[in-house]
Amino acid sequence: MSLEDVLGRLDRMRNDMVAALTALCRIPAIGPTNGGEGEGKKAAHVQAWMKELGLKVEHFDAPDERVPGGKRPNLVARVGKGPRLWFLCHMDIVPPGDLKGWRTDPFDPKLVDGRLYGRGTEDNGQALVSVLSAYQALLKAKEKPGRALGFAIVADEETGSDYGLKHLTKQDLFESKDVFLVPDYGVPAGDAVEVAEKSVLWLKFTVTGKQGHASTPNEAVNAARAGAFLVTALDANLPRRFRATDPMFRPWNSTFEPTKREPNVPNVNTIPGEDVFYFDCRVLPAYTKKEVLAAVEELAAQTRQTFGVQIKVDVVNEESSPPTPADAPIVLEVLRALQKVRNLRGKVVGIGGGTVAAPLREKKFPCVVWSTTEEVGHTVNEYSKVDNLVADARVFAALMLGPK
Ligand SMILES: [Zn+2]
Repeated sequence: MSLEDVLGRLDRMRNDMVAALTALCRIPAIGPTNGGEGEGKKAAHVQAWMKELGLKVEHFDAPDERVPGGKRPNLVARVGKGPRLWFLCHMDIVPPGDLKGWRTDPFDPKLVDGRLYGRGTEDNGQALVSVLSAYQALLKAKEKPGRALGFAIVADEETGSDYGLKHLTKQDLFESKDVFLVPDYGVPAGDAVEVAEKSVLWLKFTVTGKQGHASTPNEAVNAARAGAFLVTALDANLPRRFRATDPMFRPWNSTFEPTKREPNVPNVNTIPGEDVFYFDCRVLPAYTKKEVLAAVEELAAQTRQTFGVQIKVDVVNEESSPPTPADAPIVLEVLRALQKVRNLRGKVVGIGGGTVAAPLREKKFPCVVWSTTEEVGHTVNEYSKVDNLVADARVFAALMLGPK
């Protein structure tokens, strides 16, 4: 059987896949926002591999003067005609972080107990190697894809996607019946098939009072006290007011987290005249942004009145996208492939947000976010579990062979 042949080849390609991921990891691709030189070198390496596979690579690069060469590379290859299944992977990585925390060189990967350690091995090198290896196995088995395929290997996923996927969506590239698989979220069991994300709402609160000497508080209006009150009020009230749960999502509820706080005064004996803090809100589809902002405003008004301060609320980031229906054909196909080649019963889930599926779903493209990960991306001692590398390639190969 053709699928059996492809899967057998993939299992025998295990060492090649580790070697490919090792080579990829040795080329750091950190975006300029994080102080790096971008994806140029890694893209040249990936492009050479794609060419070896007989793929015709097109460039949809985004101008960016901050990097050598002035361009952020986005590699695209299309195979066949008609409604296309796109595989979307990203080349960029986050910085390694605290080097003292790494037990190995983050850019010289080491294989230990079936795990390949290195920055970017799991996020998103694993997916890139699995996807291209799956296609390679098809070629070796002399199998033709059972459908039109697209490979989009993009830049800038880690710092907003403006020079990556969002740049691609502005080109005349994706067609209305195309569907997407984004292997950039997953759980260790490999059974979470992500089709929805909560709305992301980042709020900045600026509380203004009157600075003064701490020995004469009557002359001042303490912004720190009013700010502390408001943080506590928001924290106590928002989760209660928006308490609906949806078992499809992880976690089930909307979340409202106080996060960043800006420094105020440098010394202990000054009463701060300003207090600035932020909330990261992740809201279930049951609620609108307007409802959340109205509840926030109510608590801000109460704080203004009680403490005699001014309070400004700014939305500093927001993102929301319609879910891909749980019974969309691409979702059912991924579930079937999981069952067939991994003997896994997949679960359709929603998550807290933040993947590149959002800009695609916003444009009404059905989009599944799925892979198998140990959830160690961005951590020190990030690794890719080699079993996941191979097992995910089996699913990609089944999808490339098509629904027949
Ligand atoms: Zn990623």
